[in-house]
Amino acid sequence: MSNKQLAMVLDLNKCIGCHTCSIACKQLWTRDEGMEYMWWNTVNTMPGEGTPRGWENLGGGFRNGEAKPGKMPTRKEFGEAWNYNFDEVLNGSKGGGQHLQIKGEQPDWGPNWDEDQAAGDYPNGYSFYLPRICNHCSNAPCVAACPRKAIEKREQDGIVIVNEDRCRGYRFCMEACPYKKIYFNQEKKVAQKCIFCFPRIDEGVAPACARQCPGRLRFVGYREDRDALVWKLVDKWKVAVPLHPEYETEPNVFYVPPMNPARIDENGNLDFTQPRIPADYLESLFGPVVHDALGILHAEMKKTKEGGQSELMDLLIAYEWTDNLGGFDRDPATVVQQFE
Ligand code: SF4
Ligand code: SF4
Repeated sequence: MSNKQLAMVLDLNKCIGCHTCSIACKQLWTRDEGMEYMWWNTVNTMPGEGTPRGWENLGGGFRNGEAKPGKMPTRKEFGEAWNYNFDEVLNGSKGGGQHLQIKGEQPDWGPNWDEDQAAGDYPNGYSFYLPRICNHCSNAPCVAACPRKAIEKREQDGIVIVNEDRCRGYRFCMEACPYKKIYFNQEKKVAQKCIFCFPRIDEGVAPACARQCPGRLRFVGYREDRDALVWKLVDKWKVAVPLHPEYETEPNVFYVPPMNPARIDENGNLDFTQPRIPADYLESLFGPVVHDALGILHAEMKKTKEGGQSELMDLLIAYEWTDNLGGFDRDPATVVQQFE
């Protein structure tokens, strides 16, 4: 059990799919050998197959309190790191005669293979971006599945980390995690995953994905801290909900669901009576509570459109970027040596 629990809220209405978060994470944590294919932070277009491919159908997690069998994603399902002919183009003195291209077998899948593919029929197509990290679950099946007790929740903040000295590479955690957020490092023969940037957290610096997000859509804070925006969005306003609560892992990453744009009817007019993103699709992602969350969001937005004030809308706008970071707003440049 952890004394406190760090959490993150992501407002899906503000994500522009720029992948700054993924790159910030990759630059910091997954540049070593064996980590080439790892993206601890992913941003997928929904509805889509996601990363790893079809992860929502790979099992894991719990059902009625019992562990549900899960499948380990293959490297191909995660998407390999592609090799390019950099040498030929940059050092081969081939002038303009050579173009950058992938070397060897041509891929038929990658982490963002189905990016920006919408669902629905014109003119009512729809899509949204879903950024994902490890959920640092309170009831973490990865922790329960490891016979070596190599995965632990930090007592001080509930961050889930792999102790690489204890890990023997059995990969039961990869099968057990229903979000498929654990990777296997073939060089070191250990499991590796998002660490919620704990070395930064320990120094008062927010995780890189949250600090770098130009959309200011990631809110960081302790679940128990009533001054933190995380608490206000999850517990007070109840507009931030977990992804796939039916996995029974008690995730600590929450999402403000996408508010539906209006449909366009056969005469080209806006029709506000029918949601463009099917309600049952959103329910399949976030459970039935998503309808209440969307109801609150629409009501508060209406209030502001009519000239009123809304604490919720002000929170979600995040006028000051430091407001998002729950006190973890120290400049990383002041502690940079420790992260290198
Ligand atoms: Fe473990 Fe997966 Fe939950 Fe992260 S998301 S704590 S890896 S079960
Ligand atoms: Fe979305 Fe922010 Fe990531 Fe860009 S950096 S993809 S806006 S979560």
